[in-house]
Amino acid sequence: MEAENAKPAFDRVDAAEKTDSAENPAVPTNFIQEIINEDFKTGKHGGKVHTRFPPEPNGYLHIGHAKSICLNFGIAKRNNGICNLRFDDTNPSKEDTEYVDSIQEDVRWLGFDWEDRLFYASDYYEQLYQYAIDLIQAGKAFVCDLSAQEIRDYRGTLTEPGKESPYRNRSAEENLDLFKRMRAGEFPDGSKVLRAKIDMASPNINMRDPVIYRILRSTHHRTGDQWCIYPMYDYAHPISDALEGITHSICTLEFEDHRPLYNWVIENLDLPARPQQIEFARLNLNHTVMSKRKLLELVRNHSVSGWNDPRMPTISGLRRRGYTPESIRNFCDRIGVAKSNSIVDIALLEHCIREDLNLRAPRVMAVLDPLKVIIDNYPEGQVEEFEGEINPENPELGTRKIPFSKVIYIEKDDFREDPPKGYFRLSPGREIRLKHAYYIRCESVVRDPATGEIIELHCTYDPETRGGWSADGRKVKGTSHWVSAAHAVDAEVRLYDHLFLDENPGENATLNPDSLVTLTHCKVEPSLKDVKAGERFQFLRQGYFCVDLDSRPGKLVFNRTVGLRDSWGKG
Ligand code: ATP
Ligand code: MG
Repeated sequence: MEAENAKPAFDRVDAAEKTDSAENPAVPTNFIQEIINEDFKTGKHGGKVHTRFPPEPNGYLHIGHAKSICLNFGIAKRNNGICNLRFDDTNPSKEDTEYVDSIQEDVRWLGFDWEDRLFYASDYYEQLYQYAIDLIQAGKAFVCDLSAQEIRDYRGTLTEPGKESPYRNRSAEENLDLFKRMRAGEFPDGSKVLRAKIDMASPNINMRDPVIYRILRSTHHRTGDQWCIYPMYDYAHPISDALEGITHSICTLEFEDHRPLYNWVIENLDLPARPQQIEFARLNLNHTVMSKRKLLELVRNHSVSGWNDPRMPTISGLRRRGYTPESIRNFCDRIGVAKSNSIVDIALLEHCIREDLNLRAPRVMAVLDPLKVIIDNYPEGQVEEFEGEINPENPELGTRKIPFSKVIYIEKDDFREDPPKGYFRLSPGREIRLKHAYYIRCESVVRDPATGEIIELHCTYDPETRGGWSADGRKVKGTSHWVSAAHAVDAEVRLYDHLFLDENPGENATLNPDSLVTLTHCKVEPSLKDVKAGERFQFLRQGYFCVDLDSRPGKLVFNRTVGLRDSWGKG
């Protein structure tokens, strides 16, 4: 698991831990901060930092977006700046208000605040249209009648220049007339486009007269049917940035080749600000797909229960799984910001949530696969209460009461009739400790006469070992968690594993058939009776668990957030 591919991530973590010691030893530096430091020195952007997080509302946010959110909001905060939330909603056919709402919820949950600066690219449709008119009037844009296929054919290749469109030399007057009529709905979808007039021989294909407006009859989630022409991302984005006074427009590496076009738009229009685009490496995680298109596919074909399925790398999935915002922010800090792509080991993300929950999660006992144990010499009807520490990492939290009685459950896996070498848990004739309670010894085994399966154990306890310690110094090698049968609360527990078997899931990656295992007969200690969705616990010896949304009074459902064993850095 923590094999070769994880290596670059290790290197990157080291690099990211370099700190900007002169200014603030606690703040990791990165190349974007260095650019900003330089801009402060030269007075570029008037000594201001104003960033934006620009999601397209065509899906739920994932952990990759969390990296971008932490970076944009984080770098603004660190430099006394501000960060906008802007929906990049120029693709009406794929966008939806469900996504707009979930994105706001997720950014807020992660702990970031855009205050009164919530914007939509669609807020600027009229302005974007007017700027297109300016380009046309300046002879820098033209209406083109070539079909999409013809435009592709004319575009040329990396090694050959493109061919100019026969419509390239239309007069500004004719272009203006056609563009207005495009807006007025006189032409069918796809029959005309507006293109920037740049350079068909540019070595950068993005500069070969890129399309900046298309005709598309599609109802927009905000503007409805008001528009039948929509601006392209590469045109709308720099203008939206400039209109909001963005100084540093941070995006992922695949936009590097689009930067000349970004700058062309900024330079060829009379805009209120001159933002600067900076690219960084996107987050990739092993065993995980991270594109919204692929995540949507998993939702649509019911491979998962929804965008917030706890196996999904979405923020809402991680939240439901039991991740805390702190653990995700900490993860984003640790992976750092780099200029070359790499794959981060998902074990680091798991390490971050373990580290956080170790300090805050109350300890409880839960038996996931119960085996009944009858303590023959324990008085019938007697109940004792033991005290268990809530969290040994945080003794101030105090203790909880755990009832003990004659019939208890232990984990099936904590008993072997025929123990292999090195197995120190319960077996016939052997003594173990019940956590917080007593030593017990297994005396006999009862089987189901039909199946031969072991259905209960008969044990004896030693009253001299109250609290789990023997006065005569007698040692036991195993300690089991347990719950009192009469007091236990029934629960369902969902165990999760990677959604994909492949370490680097490609287009047709195989789903892990065991990514969800549901245990329906679990028994948990009674202190959990009234827990609420979202509460997190450490089940002793098993891992961290969180109460699922599906919980109902009398039917608790827990998600395993992560097991206890940490594989991070041990590879
Ligand atoms: P996807 O490829 O998952 O569909 P996207 O880039 O199309 O993502 P947007 O909604 O356009 O999604 O992204 C909003 C912001 O988040 C952009 O600035 C984008 O660069 C950034 N972002 C998206 N994916 C990642 C990632 N894996 N790591 C870091 N930043 C990302
Ligand atoms: Mg996008």
